[in-house]
Amino acid sequence: MRFTRLRLNGFKSFVDPTDLVIHDGLTGVVGPNGCGKSNLLEALRWVMGETRPTAMRGGGMEDVIFAGAATRSARNHAEVALHIDNSDRLAPAAFNDTDQIEITRRITRDVGSAYRLGGKEVRARDVQMLFADASTGAHSPALVRQGQISELINAKPAARRRILEEAAGISGLYQRRHEAELK
Ligand code: ATP
Ligand code: MG
Repeated sequence: MRFTRLRLNGFKSFVDPTDLVIHDGLTGVVGPNGCGKSNLLEALRWVMGETRPTAMRGGGMEDVIFAGAATRSARNHAEVALHIDNSDRLAPAAFNDTDQIEITRRITRDVGSAYRLGGKEVRARDVQMLFADASTGAHSPALVRQGQISELINAKPAARRRILEEAAGISGLYQRRHEAELK
């Protein structure tokens, strides 16, 4: 499973449509303070189903919508799309017939978020489950926020255990058990 493309529109400081092609290997994002580097990582986390506004450095989820600037008015929607190359078939078996997976999340003021997988409307949970066993997703320890290293050092044992469970690849099992109990 490889991320190949990230498209943003109206998400935080990315008011104009922005299309990032992610090539093989290491990608670096450089730029001056406040140019939107962290916003890009948050867009990635958000489209994978993040539900905590605090993880987006906001008070409410609508804070991810472009809030306006001196010469631009605020937007009513934000949208992020993520393209995944599944030619290695590492996505759950339900996706075995597709080489390309496209996830889209859109938020509208006073309405909330809607998700699409391959153009079809799905629940947040469906998007989160796509990543449950892939050591990725919105809560993946592979996504390290600014300042998170010092938080880790000061973490309580239970929080450290969650990180170890993620690293061991067993947190997907908990999510699947929870999902099964709901059915
Ligand atoms: P640093 O190098 O300091 O870490 P950065 O490149 O990571 O900076 P970000 O934190 O991604 O920068 O971007 C911050 C910018 O995004 C700020 O200018 C802030 O005003 C802007 N921003 C955040 N949310 C919104 C929003 N909802 N609408 C408009 N602009 C926003
Ligand atoms: Mg930053």
